[in-house]
Amino acid sequence: MERRARSRRHLRVVSSADPDDTASVSSASVRYGDLADRRLASILAAEDTAERYGLTQYARSTCAVHRCWLHQCIAEPVHVSAATGHRWCPECECPVEVDIDEAGMGSVRLHCSRCGLLPDTTANREVLLACRTSLSAMHAGRRAALYEVPDE
Ligand SMILES: [Zn+2]
Ligand SMILES: [Zn+2]
Repeated sequence: MERRARSRRHLRVVSSADPDDTASVSSASVRYGDLADRRLASILAAEDTAERYGLTQYARSTCAVHRCWLHQCIAEPVHVSAATGHRWCPECECPVEVDIDEAGMGSVRLHCSRCGLLPDTTANREVLLACRTSLSAMHAGRRAALYEVPDE
């Protein structure tokens, strides 16, 4: 009886249409209030929220650690993870380097710092995909053109 009353109260809070209830909007202005790129700030905040609900870190196009687009900081050592295999060559047990060509179409390439190959693992494919998403998301805000399809 008491429990039911509590959950009903909870429901009322979630479905509240109170105009002052702007928690999801203000997280972008509070946490990323100092970022000049407001589009980046709102995507960062949205992906922070999505991550709390199960979005994996490498499905993000932004980085909460470095507060930027993922491709801008993916080369940082902190983004190497032997545990999950991201930016990691399981054969050589060493980090995978990332080459981002931001000019032109903005291509992303991975290669192992030891064997020179791209270790084709699920984790490394996630890194590639996330960087490409990040690049196109950044460019989408800068270009007037709707879409440019990379010839790959
Ligand atoms: Zn980062
Ligand atoms: Zn290797």
